[in-house]
Amino acid sequence: MEAIGTLAGGVAHDFNNLLQVINGYSEMALERLEPDHPLRGHLETIQRAGQKGAALTRQLLAFSRKQVLAPELLDLNTLFREMEMFFQRVVKEDIRLAFDLEPGMGPVEADHGQLEQVIMNLVVNARDAMPRGGTLTLETRSRQGFATFSVTDTGDGMAPEVVGRIFEPFFTTKGVGKGTGLGLSTALGIVEQSGGTLEVHSTPGLGTTFTVSLPFATDLVPKPPVLEEPEPATGTETVLVVEDDEGVRQLTAHHLRAAGYQVLEAQDAATALERLHSFGGPVHLLLTDVVMPGMGGRELAHAVRGLRPETRVAYMSGYPDALAASDDAWTESILISKPFDRAKLLCMVRTALD
Ligand code: ADP
Ligand code: MG
Repeated sequence: MEAIGTLAGGVAHDFNNLLQVINGYSEMALERLEPDHPLRGHLETIQRAGQKGAALTRQLLAFSRKQVLAPELLDLNTLFREMEMFFQRVVKEDIRLAFDLEPGMGPVEADHGQLEQVIMNLVVNARDAMPRGGTLTLETRSRQGFATFSVTDTGDGMAPEVVGRIFEPFFTTKGVGKGTGLGLSTALGIVEQSGGTLEVHSTPGLGTTFTVSLPFATDLVPKPPVLEEPEPATGTETVLVVEDDEGVRQLTAHHLRAAGYQVLEAQDAATALERLHSFGGPVHLLLTDVVMPGMGGRELAHAVRGLRPETRVAYMSGYPDALAASDDAWTESILISKPFDRAKLLCMVRTALD
């Protein structure tokens, strides 16, 4: 599990750099395009694909536990209806889909992408259990302070000795290339992290029910509606941007210059230190990647603090928990997690400077 997690986390990190470029440049291009330009539709499609990619890397990071949970208020019934298209696509025609949703249930507090992943894993398992067709029932209920949902199939069911092992990572009864044995162990991890439980009832020959219980959200204050985007925070200070990925660096520098900042660029720590030596004026902020070939972002920040104690530091990283294990100077720093958009970048830079 750990090795796979590390691998997935590493891939997600590289992928976040690519998404940063795709999402950033499509955002920029869309801003410049006339509202009725014939290419607008194409660009919007690229942007949507990039946003889906960002959701996917969040899932990968969730799996590798490198993801900070982003809980939000969710209505299970709405979630199931949103996912109906997905259910239609995974089940064949010989499987009947039945919904039995209890109306008026309160919201739960959970991570949207992760909860979707739990549901997907259970639905795919239910499908696999019914190779000759059957009925797949999705049910929601409120039960003693918990919102529950269950996924029931009329498939093969499981013998007790199989039930005893299904939550083990890599346990699968499916053929090579068909099962990974990671579906239920991942689902259980997510449910437990959200303060819930995952139960199973199975009868050989008759079918299986998986039931997830999640505590109702206690904080029922609705989130304030997102009003119009505030004016982007601007500034005139000097920012040293250090990032080995050229696309990400140029995009970041572009956004900062457009907002009024003076920008110095460097592709690695050594170049950054050279820039600092040859630049006469004050450098107000070091904005650096964390993981870079050669000297990393933390060491660079340390060196810069030695040379120019007044320079503030902010990090950009594809690992949301990059700051987790840390000394004091490190935790006091600001982290901008990739992929970020212009508004988030400018807001974080302003915060770091102020
Ligand atoms: P995978 O689906 O890759 O095998 P999972 O962790 O999702 O891995 O499931 C582990 C095992 O649990 C499956 O291989 C199967 O034997 C059993 N299983 C899971 N869901 C069901 C189900 N709905 N009906 C029967 N068996 C199931
Ligand atoms: Mg599975």
